[in-house]
Amino acid sequence: MLDIWDKTVETLRDSVKPYDFAHWIRPIRCSGVDPSTGYMVLNVPDASHGKWLEEHFMQRILDAVSELTDAPLRIRFESEERLSKECVQSAPLPLQTQSSVARPDLVERYRFESFVAGPNSRFALTAAQSAAEQPGNRYNPLFIYGGVGLGKTHLLHAVGHQALAQNPQARVLYVSSETYVNDLIGAIRSGQMDKFRTRYRDECDVLLIDDIQFIAGKDRTQEEFFHMFNTLHSSHKQIVMTCDQMPSSIPDLEERIRSRLQWGLIADIKPPSFETRVAILERKAAEDGINLSKDVAMLLARHITRNVRELEGALMRLDAQAKIFGQAIDLETTRTFLGDVVDSDLRRISPQVIIKAVCETFDVNESMLKGPRRHRHVTQPRQVAMYLIRELTDESLPRIGSLFGGRDHTTVLNALKRIEHLKSANPILRDRIARLAKELSS
Ligand code: ADP
Ligand code: MG
Repeated sequence: MLDIWDKTVETLRDSVKPYDFAHWIRPIRCSGVDPSTGYMVLNVPDASHGKWLEEHFMQRILDAVSELTDAPLRIRFESEERLSKECVQSAPLPLQTQSSVARPDLVERYRFESFVAGPNSRFALTAAQSAAEQPGNRYNPLFIYGGVGLGKTHLLHAVGHQALAQNPQARVLYVSSETYVNDLIGAIRSGQMDKFRTRYRDECDVLLIDDIQFIAGKDRTQEEFFHMFNTLHSSHKQIVMTCDQMPSSIPDLEERIRSRLQWGLIADIKPPSFETRVAILERKAAEDGINLSKDVAMLLARHITRNVRELEGALMRLDAQAKIFGQAIDLETTRTFLGDVVDSDLRRISPQVIIKAVCETFDVNESMLKGPRRHRHVTQPRQVAMYLIRELTDESLPRIGSLFGGRDHTTVLNALKRIEHLKSANPILRDRIARLAKELSS
């Protein structure tokens, strides 16, 4: 639930004015869902803050939350006033000695420790760690690219956290390229270009720019970016960028910028494998204290394959709904709650693909598998194929029967029972089936 709130904040960041965001939204802390009322509780600094939010932002917050969860959520603001007064009395805060150092906008959770490495991302991860440990020294600039929801922003923030952990004085600046563009426009309008340049060129040791593709096609931005890049790079300040594609494919990008993006190291992130997806879900569940069994993790990982954000989103929805309805997360509730996700994806694996894979694994030919023979050499693979089709697709029993030479649906049912039995009696067969299911789903 806390995570849903983190994500809501991210959505709101894009949809409200920067001042409103900084002043009204950022101070909000989510303390979870009150189980007795089902209200999501949001802590605000004082009562008037809550009142203002209720009047001006309630609907927007509700909309943003409901994009992330189907659960019928309601929201309550609670004032932290009393709480903070007590804190001050019992433990006066130490004087802020670093108040001049601007804290970058880093998401607390996006750290290297919480990033699950897999073969799809290991190179990018290692490069990012290296850039964070020796800023400006090794891979400069570091350019990370990949599809949506694969952890680029996560890695970028992690570089910032790590750089700060090593050197708390480091001036780390994180911006999305949209923020960069908006800052620039604001600076031009208000005649404060000096301030803009000081911020991005002089007062910055590590510059993290997210989604750099958005500077393409914008002349003035590219001009400014070009000079900033040169200044930072020549003074060995680390630059890390993310992008949805490699530099050579970004359309409408000036050549001189394209070439600079390629000066350092380019690392890509690909969609994670089945095992990595399961590991990500398990990590996420552990972080959030969600009780997630292996089979549910595998069910989700089997059906959500290309986007980690969606994978996490499904887990969050599942958790929110399970909490609200007071149910445990098991295969059945998952199928009910996430029917849309699970069902629509179920149709992607075709029976024919399964039959083919079974034939290869068990070394029988397809006509034998579908034919009348009752020798054990073919009956077992046939039963396995039926079983997997039942598990991985939404074909009905009669349909499955008809795929195997017009067999009766009771024959299919018996096959399923037989395999269920064999799975507990015969570990080798069980492993074989598990491996097949995994291959077919990834
Ligand atoms: P991108 O910027 O590539 O679109 P994000 O960095 O925003 O993707 O990642 C989307 C979500 O998935 C985030 O909540 C992030 O923490 C999570 N995520 C992505 N990859 C991983 C990973 N390898 N390990 C843990 N969490 C991940
Ligand atoms: Mg991103």
